[in-house]
Amino acid sequence: MSAEVQRKPLSVVGHFINGEVVADSNRPQDVTNPATGEVTRQVAIATSETVREAIAAAEAAFPAWRNTPPLKRARVMFRFKQLLEEHADEIAAAITDEHGKVLDDAMGEFLRGVEVVEYACGIPELLKGDFTRNVGPSIDSWSEHQPLGVVAGITPFNFPAMVPMWMYPMAIACGNSFVLKPSEKDPTAPMLCARLLKEAGLPDGVFNVVNGDNEAVDTLLHDSRVQAISFVGSTPIAEYIYATGSSNGKRVQALGGAKNHAVVMPDADIDNAVSALMGAAYGSCGERCMAISVAVCVGEDTAEKLVEQFKARVESMNVGPGTDTSNDMGPLVTREHRDKVAGYVDLGVEEGADLVIDGRDLVVEGHENGFFLGPCLFDNVKADMRIYNEEIFGPVLCLVRAENQEQAMQLINEHEFGNGTAIFTRDGEAARFFTDNIQVGMVGVNVPLPVPVACHSFGGWKRSLFGDLYAYGPDSVSFYTRRKTVTQRWPSGGVRDSARFTFPTND
Ligand code: NAD
Repeated sequence: MSAEVQRKPLSVVGHFINGEVVADSNRPQDVTNPATGEVTRQVAIATSETVREAIAAAEAAFPAWRNTPPLKRARVMFRFKQLLEEHADEIAAAITDEHGKVLDDAMGEFLRGVEVVEYACGIPELLKGDFTRNVGPSIDSWSEHQPLGVVAGITPFNFPAMVPMWMYPMAIACGNSFVLKPSEKDPTAPMLCARLLKEAGLPDGVFNVVNGDNEAVDTLLHDSRVQAISFVGSTPIAEYIYATGSSNGKRVQALGGAKNHAVVMPDADIDNAVSALMGAAYGSCGERCMAISVAVCVGEDTAEKLVEQFKARVESMNVGPGTDTSNDMGPLVTREHRDKVAGYVDLGVEEGADLVIDGRDLVVEGHENGFFLGPCLFDNVKADMRIYNEEIFGPVLCLVRAENQEQAMQLINEHEFGNGTAIFTRDGEAARFFTDNIQVGMVGVNVPLPVPVACHSFGGWKRSLFGDLYAYGPDSVSFYTRRKTVTQRWPSGGVRDSARFTFPTND
């Protein structure tokens, strides 16, 4: 019997519609384990018809869910949080299996997602409106937050559990129904969460998952039943989603790509700064929208010290499969992406930057077919190089030398992206000047990955975000609800009014 015949049929990850797992596998796509290069399963790619079924299920579930008291919606979130914690290992393992990141990093992303569920447990408090008595004679007025209806989320490969959780817990807690279109590269974690939401008591149809590609996305963008879209992914697609969704009358928030700079001042604690930058540049193989991909060293001496320490310390980094938690870094997500990132390293050399750490020849023993690339460091990167301007999304750190803080900040302020940034210094005045004047949405002072916690909101500036409202936190209540203000009069004592033709005032 040939190896071909003996191979077990691959399982197909389906869709989750109206509380059931369904598959329309006429166009399945392979899902790969990035550490081994093996195809481990397939994912169903939704047709437009399937997406419309999911929207119909969400639309049917909306009226009852919107009228479910917020306290009861919060109880579903409490139960969901408990179930997530009970299944943490299973979900983290699925992330590592399909994304490649090291298991404890997968657990970290998962736990940051759970924090948003915890925030959503407070929905009765968050949805409280405002009331004013006697805005006029016998007239009271109040404002309330009403849910929108069917809302959709479209998410990237790099945080398959956390980024969807930036969206659906708050959308659902606010009383909406939801259709999620996760990344087709790592579809298992969101499907596990869908199963747990059902087990937590969420009525069928309130949360649906359609796996798929641009056909599914375009169906969501053009269907008039979808009221709002949250998107996280690369900037060109974010811009497309924002333009198309808005022109179809939807509320849209579209978070895009990044090129996050860290400024290292001459007075910084270099040991600490290097530890922070190594984790922020190479953790998750650089596949984080908040990864530090540019280090701006103020002063030649700062740059020399940084390069020297990086060279020494990168030597001791472990790169290998994410299932082994002694590894610091796993593989990139696909072979295509690995080759694209390696291509950027070739390009940097051609552009004239100094490649002082070259990870291109890394071979991980026993995992020769995995999508590995070792950490890379470029020195003397200039602002007109493509490796400086474009998002690489891999373990490649570019070091730029600046003469002073103003020059370092000018570089950041002139860059097209404005997602995250950080400054390393011991000088409070320099830090305050930086946080006041930097044109970036999320800023760290001696903190390399300033990802806001769940009770704040996440979002970048410039071409890192299209739309007005950020993800999760207080902004998510504004995004997933619309305000209604009621003005009500109950005249007492049988008062009879004559017609008034002037605009109502209190005079
Ligand atoms: P991507 O833009 O390729 O894909 C994101 C989503 O859009 C996926 O669900 C994908 O199926 C869909 N999509 C892709 N091409 C499409 C098309 N032509 N038409 C319609 N839909 C399409 O992004 P990715 O590679 O999955 O993720 C990495 C990117 O996401 C990076 O640029 C990273 O910076 C960004 N990201 C940003 C944030 C943030 O908060 N700003 C967070 C995480 C990731």
